[in-house]
Amino acid sequence: MMQVSSVINKPDCKCGERLTLDHRTGPLKLNYDKSFFGGNVEGLFPGQCPKCNTDLTLCVVQTGGSWEVIASAYGVNHEKETVAKKDDFDSMDKDALKKWLDDRGIPYTPQWGEERLRKTCRENA
Ligand SMILES: [Zn+2]
Repeated sequence: MMQVSSVINKPDCKCGERLTLDHRTGPLKLNYDKSFFGGNVEGLFPGQCPKCNTDLTLCVVQTGGSWEVIASAYGVNHEKETVAKKDDFDSMDKDALKKWLDDRGIPYTPQWGEERLRKTCRENA
C-alpha cells in the first residue's frame, strides 16, 4: 500500500523554502494512487529541498505544456508503486479482481464496478 505521511497544499517545503521543478531528483511518476493527494495532482516527481535537504515529493499539474509544482508530500514510497504491479491489476477482469480480494479476506461490495474493485486491490497490494 502506498504510504504518504503528510501533504502540504502549497509548493513549499516544511522549512518554508519555495519548491520548483529545479528541485526534482528523479523521473515523473504518473502511476500512483491519486486519492492521497486530492483530485488535482496530475503527476509526482521525487525531489529534495535545497535548503534543509529533506527528501520529498513534488506534486505537479500540467500548465501550458510544462509542469508546475502545486504541493509537496513527505514519506511517499515510490518504490512500491511500480508499473508492473499496476499492470497486474489492469489485466485482471472483475471476477479475477474479486477473487484477489477474497483470497486476502479484504471486504468489498459485490455491486462495485471494475474500476472501484481495481482501486481497492491497488490500495491493498
Ligand atoms: Zn526544506
